[in-house]
This record gives sequence, structure tokens and C-alpha cells, in this order.
Amino acid sequence: MVLLQISEPGQSPSPHQRRRAAGIDLGTTNSLVASVRSGTPEVLLDADNQYLLPSVVRYNALKESTVGYAAYLQLSTDPLNTLSSVKRFMGRGIQDIKKLGSQMPYELTTQVDGGMPNFKTVAGDVSPVEASAEILKVLVSRSEEALGGTLDGVVLTVPAYFDEAQRQATKDAATLTGVKVLRLLNEPTAAAVAYGLDQGAEGIIAIYDFGGGTFDVSILRLSSGVFQVLATGGDSSLGGDDIDRVVAQWFSEKAGFSDDLSPSLQRELLMSARIAKEELSESIFTEVNVAGWTGVLSREKFNLLINPLVDKTLGCCKRVLRDAKLKASDITNVVMVGGSTRTHLVRQKVADAFHREPLVNIDPDKVVALGAAIQADLLVGNKPDEDMLLLDVIPLSLGLETMGGLMEKIIHRNTTIPIIKSQEFTTFKDGQTAMSVHVLQGERELISDCRSLARFELRGIPPLVAGAAKIQVSFQVDADGLLNVSAKELASGVESRIEVKPSYGLNDKDIARMLQESYGSAKEDMLARALREQQVDARRMREDLLAALKKDGRELLSDTEYSCLELTVRDLDKICDSQSYREISHQIEAASKASEEFAARRMNVSIKKALAGHSLDDMERGI
Ligand code: ADP
Ligand code: MG
Repeated sequence: MVLLQISEPGQSPSPHQRRRAAGIDLGTTNSLVASVRSGTPEVLLDADNQYLLPSVVRYNALKESTVGYAAYLQLSTDPLNTLSSVKRFMGRGIQDIKKLGSQMPYELTTQVDGGMPNFKTVAGDVSPVEASAEILKVLVSRSEEALGGTLDGVVLTVPAYFDEAQRQATKDAATLTGVKVLRLLNEPTAAAVAYGLDQGAEGIIAIYDFGGGTFDVSILRLSSGVFQVLATGGDSSLGGDDIDRVVAQWFSEKAGFSDDLSPSLQRELLMSARIAKEELSESIFTEVNVAGWTGVLSREKFNLLINPLVDKTLGCCKRVLRDAKLKASDITNVVMVGGSTRTHLVRQKVADAFHREPLVNIDPDKVVALGAAIQADLLVGNKPDEDMLLLDVIPLSLGLETMGGLMEKIIHRNTTIPIIKSQEFTTFKDGQTAMSVHVLQGERELISDCRSLARFELRGIPPLVAGAAKIQVSFQVDADGLLNVSAKELASGVESRIEVKPSYGLNDKDIARMLQESYGSAKEDMLARALREQQVDARRMREDLLAALKKDGRELLSDTEYSCLELTVRDLDKICDSQSYREISHQIEAASKASEEFAARRMNVSIKKALAGHSLDDMERGI
């Protein structure tokens, strides 16, 4: 007879058994998985001893999917059913995807709810989340075979630039595979984890991650086991794919092809470009044979072609340094991440820009997955004696819409997460019982320049005079960078909350643009804010004056005085949408002068009213 083992609540039946955890780098181009085995993180191999899994999913009419190299090989023969660079679609709306342009040969179907569009394939509509889940499934089963059992959890990496929607979509993909997500970890932070623990490095390091579809640069401070991200930046529409396009374009020109290429010829050119590019990391020239054209591409020519792209990455590096208030010479180490950092010109120019040779000891393809594996091992509880603090930051500020269409930042960008922040707001009108909360992300002052994330309403506020209710709005960003917003009226305790799940996220170009614009338009924004505030003041004054006229105007004013003030109201009405700060402030001043006397009379009357019928004794007794 087998005795049943009963464990205490919260304790595993065999507490000393190692838990199975893995770190997954879900890349735009390639994905891979790593795990800590016998104390060392290592990448896990497939049956053919390959560690990279091309992030490509092909669907057939039987609704079966093929993932990885087999699918990659079908990219040019079956372009519509073979999905690549799906990561670029994660958490995006159709408008954002359209901006990616003709690079995407897929047919997309838009959903009614304005969410992420689907790919139209022979197997039916497939969402980017589902396609990503197919990739994850392969990696999860690879890990389970290697580790000999069900996974207890995974750490998934995402670009530091990913906004709420993109993070949420990534988490959703994992949910579809049934695996538990221990943490979403920023890719550069994962790379720092791999290097920090391997070498016990201290100081300030720059992580230069040039992959297939994205470029990320992060500045991290490493000291006594604490990783703090000081600033992040980059361009998530810039990667090896763009290098391939530049080279393919050159092939096409040399071969004399027309601009209107079929999708399969386009794919073929891109594949040859990629092969040529990767070869040029080893040799100084390469022979090209594509679609009937033969030629030679030298490294020298290649360097000229891609120089603007490399310069673009260095521009991002400069900006992020400025953000962190650092100089290139403050950086103690530069870590190279991503396949594109194998390119000679990249290594050379990065070394020049930072005045030091970048670190390449850990394979730039593997470093993110290895760091994620270390973190997963820790989070799953395999190292109870070690506590590594991992601080991360949010890439764009989060805030609320306030009067006049202004964005009030609650959590500023580059704030370390997890974090909770609250701010008190009040009602604008007497007797107001509801308030709408509009959550935004972005750097600019006007809401029209920021991205709307969610709206919700707080109802049941007790009717009080304007300004008396105290509404506390709290923003909570968890360690995965996901946002939760709640609003509470403090006197009554009425509460409302929302987990912010936008239907689609920020376009990566938008993020870069929003950041850039905020640098360039700080002064403009200040003026715009001042103008909006002035407009709000004018409107408020008009409302107050109108209400007062209605209430006591006839009683306290002569007919002439009354019509004068009516004119003042009309003037304010005309002016409150004016775009001229001076015009509005001038009018406000005039209006307050014109209504001074009326205000004084009203004050007298109300004091008299308050005193009427009370004897002095009453007043002293407080009746
Ligand atoms: P991602 O993180 O976007 O999935 P990776 O880090 O796997 O991307 O990088 C993929 C990119 O690296 C591709 O554009 C690929 O062509 C490029 N790459 C891989 N090996 C080399 C090489 N030896 N030289 C230049 N580029 C390379
Ligand atoms: Mg990567």
C-alpha cells in the first residue's frame, strides 16, 4: 500500500526538489530558451542541436502549424501563410501596422472591436498572439524534454521599449500555451543579469542590442548585486531586417529589376541579402547569386550602404546618455547583444563612440536568454539564500487628463518599477457626482499629443460644492510593467478601478517620436499649457459670472450695470477658445474689473443675510 503524503499548505511535497524554470527570449527574428542546470545557465538545443528557433510560423490548410527553420524555408514560396516578424504586430492596432508599410506581405483582417488585426491564412484568421504562442509552445516543450517534466514557470523577455499593450499581448501568448509567467523582463536587463553574475561587474554599463527588428539601448548601474536601469531608449523599427532591405535594394538596382517586385522575389532578395550580410561579418567580400543575377558585394561597399543605419543607432545612444545625464566616458562597459552586433562596422563604430572595446564574451545571440534563465531560476525559488534586487524603469510617462485637455503626469518616465503613486484631484462643478478618468501615456503636455490608454468613470461621488470632494487616483505599475489604475473618493470611500488593457499599443515609431518631440518642444509645451490654463480660467469666470447674474443680478444691479455685465459674459464666451494667451488674460482682467462692484454687493448681501434674525447672543452661542 502506498501512503499518501500530505504536505502543509503552501509547501511542496518534496521541498528539496529543484523546480523547473526557463528563460525565453521571444525575438523578432529568432527565439531561444535557456535554463540553469547544475548551477550554470545554458541554452537548450533542439533535436538537430540548434539553439536558435527562427520566429517564423507557417500555417497549412489542415490548420497545422510549422515553426522554426522548416517554416523559414517557406518564406519565399508561401509568403502569405508564413508569418515572420510577428513580434512587430504584438499589441498593435491596424493604424500602427499600416505605418510599417509595404514591408509586410500579409493580408490583414481588422476586427470589429478595433483590437489587434489578424493575419489571413489558409488555416483561417490568426492573431499575432496566437502565432507567438506557437513559437512559445515549441520552446516550452523543448525545455520540458530537456528538463524532464512540466515547467514550473518561465521568465519572458520583452524589449525595454514595449508599452502596456505589447507587454500584455506577450503575456497573453504565454497564457495560451498554459505556462506560468514568473516575470516579464526587459531584454537589456536580462543581458545585464547574465554579465553581472558571471563577472561580478560593478559600474555603469551600456547595453547595445541590435537584433533583427529592434534596436534598444539601455544604461544600467550595477553595484553589489543591484541592477538599476538608469535610462532606456532606442528605435524598435530598426534592426538587421533594415540592413537586409538596404542590401536587397542594392541587388535589385544592380540587377535592373523594376520597383514593383512580386512578394516571392522580394523575399528571395531579402534572404540573399541576409546571407551576404552575415558572410561579410567573416569575409571582406561575398559573391551573390540571386534570381538570375550574379555579382560581388564587398565589405567596403556594404559598410557604405549601412552606415546611415549604424549612425541612427549611435544617435539613440547619444540621446539615452543625455537622458541619464552621463557622458560616454562615464560608461565602464558596453555590452553587445543581438545578431546584428556581429557586423564589423557596428562593433567598430560602437567602440569609437564609447571610446572602448565593447564586451562580446557572452554570445550576443544567447545573452538575453541566459540572463532570463538566471532570473527564472531565482524567481521559481531554487536559490532561497540569494536575493537579487532587480529594478527596472517605465519607458514613457503615465498620467491623467485634467481640465483643458492637459496631461498631468503621475509616474514620470524612467521611474523604477514596481511603483505605486497617488495624486488627489477634486471636482470642477458644484454637485458633481461622477468623474471620468482618462489614462494616458506620453511625454507631451497636451493630451492630443499623448496616447490614450483607457477611460473609466468614478460614480457615486457625494454631491458637494466644487473643490470639496477629494478624489485620490492611484497608479500602480507592477514588476512586469503592467499598469493598474484606481480612483477613490476619500470622504465616502466610493472606489473604481481598472486594469489598463488597451486594445492596441503604441507604435514603436510613435514612442520614439513622442520622446523626441518632447525634447524639441519643451518650450512650446509650456506655452501651450499656459494657454490651456488661461482658457480654463476664462471659462470658469464666465460660468461663475453667469450664475451670479441669474441669482442676484436683477436685485443688485441697475439695468445698465446688468447689461454691461451681460456683455462681459459674452466677451468671455467669445474669447475662451482664443489661441492668444495675451488676448485671454487681457479679457479676464477686464472682466474681473467690471464685476468687482457686483461681487462686493453680493458679499454684503450674503453677510447681511447671515446676520439677519440673529441676535448677538445667538451668534456668540454659535446658533
Ligand atoms: P531578434 O532579437 O530581433 O530576434 P537576433 O538577435 O536573433 O534578433 O538577431 C537577428 C539578426 O541578426 C538578423 O537580422 C540576422 O541577419 C543578424 N545576424 C545574425 N548573424 C549575423 C552575422 N554573423 N552578421 C551580421 N548579422 C547577423
Ligand atoms: Mg533579441
